[in-house]
This record gives sequence, C-alpha cells and structure tokens, in this order.
Amino acid sequence: MARPMSERWRSGLVLLLSVALFAGIVLFAPGSNLSAVRRLLGLQSPLGNPAEVPDEGTYAFLATQPGGDDPVAWDPCREIRYEVNPDGGPDDAVELVADALADASEISGLQFDYLGETDRRPVWESRFVPGFGRAEPVLFSWADEDEVAELDGDVVGLGGAGAIEEGGWSRYVTGAVTLDTDDRAELAAARGLDPETVRRATLLHEIGHLLGLDHVDSPYELMQPHNSGITDYAAGDQAGLAALGSGRCS
Ligand SMILES: [Zn+2]
Repeated sequence: MARPMSERWRSGLVLLLSVALFAGIVLFAPGSNLSAVRRLLGLQSPLGNPAEVPDEGTYAFLATQPGGDDPVAWDPCREIRYEVNPDGGPDDAVELVADALADASEISGLQFDYLGETDRRPVWESRFVPGFGRAEPVLFSWADEDEVAELDGDVVGLGGAGAIEEGGWSRYVTGAVTLDTDDRAELAAARGLDPETVRRATLLHEIGHLLGLDHVDSPYELMQPHNSGITDYAAGDQAGLAALGSGRCS
C-alpha cells in the first residue's frame, strides 16, 4: 500500500510546477504584455546584428528621442511587416523591393516580413510621415502627383515612418515608401545611366528615410536630397543605418 505524499513534498511539487508554468508563460506567451519581464530577464534580443561599419561619413536622423541624441528607430526585436501594392510599378516591383530591403537589412540588422500584395493606397501626413494608422504594416507603392501631392515637381519618391511613444521612448511602428509612376529612370537612361540601377538607388534612398535617416548635404552619400550619381549606401549612410538598427527593444 502506497504511503500518502507528505505535505512538504506536495508543496515542493506545487512550487516547482508554478515556477515551470511561470517560465513557460514568460518564454512563450504571445503579445507584448510580458515584454518588460522578458527584457528584465535578458530573454529579449535583437533579431539581427547591424554590420560593423566605421562611424564615418555624414548622416542625420529624421527624429531623436525627447531630450536626447538617440535616434527614433524601429524595434530591432520585432520584424518590420510590409506589403507591396505593385500597381503602377515595374513588372518586378515585389522583387525590387525585397532586394533593396535585403541591402538595408544587411547593414542595419533590422528584419523584414513580407505580408503579400495589397490594394492599399498611400496617404501622407507630411513629407516624411505617412498618414496611416499605427497598427498598419509598411506600404510600398507607386503613385503620381495627382494622387499624392508630395510627389509634385522633381520629387521621385517619398519615404518615412510614424512613431508611437511609450514611457518616454519613441519608436517607429508603421511607415511607407511611395515612388513616382512617372519613371525618371528612363530619363536617366538617356543620360547613360542604367535604369535598373537608378530605380534601385531611388528605392534605397527612400528606405533610408523609412528607417529614420534624414537628408545630408554631402555629395558622397545616397541620402543627399538630389542624387548626383551615388547609387548605393555610402559610408555615412551605412553608419547611420547601423546606428538605427541598434535601437532599444520594447
Ligand atoms: Zn529624400
């Protein structure tokens, strides 16, 4: 005949199960409610690592934290979800976006999650701030200046992000890149530049804004407002992107 479990043994077992249950909740519970606990326990870490690039060249941030120099950036512990509306874009619109994001990801360490194609249309609150609800994924799209007034004149594209503030810390949670359907890549071709290279460079520039980079005066960076032949992220652009990928997890 089995002996009944002693009280001490039983309460020890209950304690053990409670600890296991708590650990399970902390480790596997979805949502952000327990993110503070995860952070305290050191369980939350960035999804990728920024490239090790020298802090050279010129770069600037679109926004900094209130009362500090730290840039407003995306949460490196979360994937940046995005959709593409290829309407009005080149045939390889989705691939073009994915390739450019792969470049930005390699330098910043930030990770992107492609949700698929969408019918959503771009809305801009101002030059670098899309007019989207803060829960909406990043939208890549093509439009003309009749639909998006900010594309007026010689503006070839728009890029930017919208932030929320929690506990005195701001982070980007939605964003957009809108490229002009009036494809100036063909004009560039007339000047002897490869249209594909020009399209890609424009996209990389706008993704720079999406991730938090501002324009700089230097003619050696892709983030200069009027491109004079730089077709890839240069030294300062890379240093800025690496800094933007080193943000705080929330
Ligand atoms: Zn720009």
